[in-house]
Amino acid sequence: MTKKEQAIAAVDRYSDELCALSDAIWDHPEVGYTEKFAKETYCAFLKKEGFSVTENLGDIPTAFCGSYGSGSPVVGILAEFDALPGLSQKAESMVKEPVKVGGAGHGCGHNLLGGGALAAAVAAKAYLQDGHVGTVVFYGCPAEENGSGKAFLAKAGAFDRLDAAFSWHPGDCNSVGMGSTLANYKVIYHFHGKTSHAAIDPELGRSALDAMELMNVGAQFLREHISTECRVHYAITDGGGEAPNVVQDHADVTYLMRAPQLPVLTDLYERVTANATGAAIMTGTTVDCEFVKACSNMLPNVVLAKVMQKNLEELGAAQYSQEDRDLAAAIGATIAQKGSFFRVVASQVENSDRRTELLKYADDALCEVVLPLGKESTGQASSDVGDVSWVCPVAQISMATMPAGTPMHSWQEVAVGKSGMAHKGMLQAGRVIAASVIDTLSNPDIVAAAKQEKNARTNGVPFASLIPDGVKPSIPVMA
Ligand SMILES: [Zn+2]
Repeated sequence: MTKKEQAIAAVDRYSDELCALSDAIWDHPEVGYTEKFAKETYCAFLKKEGFSVTENLGDIPTAFCGSYGSGSPVVGILAEFDALPGLSQKAESMVKEPVKVGGAGHGCGHNLLGGGALAAAVAAKAYLQDGHVGTVVFYGCPAEENGSGKAFLAKAGAFDRLDAAFSWHPGDCNSVGMGSTLANYKVIYHFHGKTSHAAIDPELGRSALDAMELMNVGAQFLREHISTECRVHYAITDGGGEAPNVVQDHADVTYLMRAPQLPVLTDLYERVTANATGAAIMTGTTVDCEFVKACSNMLPNVVLAKVMQKNLEELGAAQYSQEDRDLAAAIGATIAQKGSFFRVVASQVENSDRRTELLKYADDALCEVVLPLGKESTGQASSDVGDVSWVCPVAQISMATMPAGTPMHSWQEVAVGKSGMAHKGMLQAGRVIAASVIDTLSNPDIVAAAKQEKNARTNGVPFASLIPDGVKPSIPVMA
């Protein structure tokens, strides 16, 4: 066994503890910035393992990091642990059935994401303990969903010490991410009007609800004249009250705007805001704009992606049991429309010399094959890993922890979050990340080439957060 193989074998020694930790996080679903249980669980584990832990990272109560080793290079492992509101679901149930009505649930598999990252951290520690130079830093990043925790941490300089970073996401296939993501802005428009009796004194009222509706109509027309890569979504977060006979003096709408590059996003934001101003003028109301959060587009890094691809191919997919396959088939049968694995297979095998072989697996209930490295592409979603990718080179993998075709943020994803297939995928992701961290720690050429690529992609422009100064994370008051 090589030193690298010996270090990766550490994951096996910790597997029961890591699976129990992931299950405990699943059992305590906490939404963005309220992840107190998760933070305490992870920090206790890291301290027990001799990591030097910094809490309250970036002045965010549920953000932390734990580092091990000393000197360069410094390699980060990014972990998440937040749940999604409203997605409470019983484990391994074949129907949509909440544990707690209206409760949160792990609909994005972040209980596994954090556990797999921790598996990689203990293996990297085992490597460093063996007399190797370098530092590994495990990052506990809160509020990936709706809060862009990493974007606030990046703005606070939390990733500045890194030479490279790795992460993964639970998914329905085994592949290395080559997609960029869209940058986004989340902004609340607060409209203010004047109440009056809607029948007796309508001329005295100025409706904030009218203004908000006109702004939204403006957004529908705007869609025709923006780049097709952009996205504009909104949610009415305050409709002005329940009484139709009172002219509404308040109304709020939350906008999420996405674009592939910053200048396009800034232009989109200005045009949406002009709609709000115009709607306020039309209705004799006023509007305030509250900036909630932003995140940067993801910069892929081919150098690090190839390091991960090589390790993913060498270590292979997780070794699932027949029981895992049977559960995947049973849960898979409840999914009406097949999702991403089939899209990934279709797009990634197109030009592959393994096309015929790979298409044989396209109907499998559980992905047990490693997909070839795909072409660079732009996805439609956003991720706060984007901000980290502007600070240092980053690569990520997807590892199968759920049945093929499972939509993200679905009850089915929550239902399998503590299953054997989830545990096996999580531990295998940890091994692939550990192998990639060890390669990066031991080979200075990888860091140099990855940094050179990142600088070429940014034209050497240093990271600048999209979050305006003074904007703080939306941290709910915790009891
Ligand atoms: Zn996620």
